[in-house]
Amino acid sequence: MSARQDNDLIKEALFREFLRAKGLSYTYERQHILKEILETSNTIKHFPIDRLYNNLQSKRNRISKSTLYRTIKLLEDSRIVKKTDIAPDRYVYEIVEQYNIGHIVCLKCKNIIEINNRETKKIVNHICREKRFQYKTHTFEIKGYCDKCISLSLKDE
Ligand SMILES: [Zn+2]
Repeated sequence: MSARQDNDLIKEALFREFLRAKGLSYTYERQHILKEILETSNTIKHFPIDRLYNNLQSKRNRISKSTLYRTIKLLEDSRIVKKTDIAPDRYVYEIVEQYNIGHIVCLKCKNIIEINNRETKKIVNHICREKRFQYKTHTFEIKGYCDKCISLSLKDE
């Protein structure tokens, strides 16, 4: 799997997890919007919402503007995309780069939980300072078993 596909899968898992925590489902519309955002951001880093809307329309996705706006808001809240103002009343969106984000991955249910940005940044900064290393990028991933999977396996025994 390429790094890009890998990254897209992580974003999808993060969004799914975010929605589940809010009691929302990962609907067909939400899946399509996220997919379109990931595709669009490959060609244009900062994209206006109209561009997304037009791309969705050209692929015959019947997604209304209000659904798009609501979903973008959810993606912002889950820190997968961020909004940048470029002029009064004009703004663009971009994918939040994952370089300073860490993940915890459950080997059983494949859930991905995000590790607090500030925590990973602190660790990475500390290591770079200590090793006199100029920071460029990192991945930070802890693999193991989540609470739910542990309690389920205990019940089996
Ligand atoms: Zn699990």
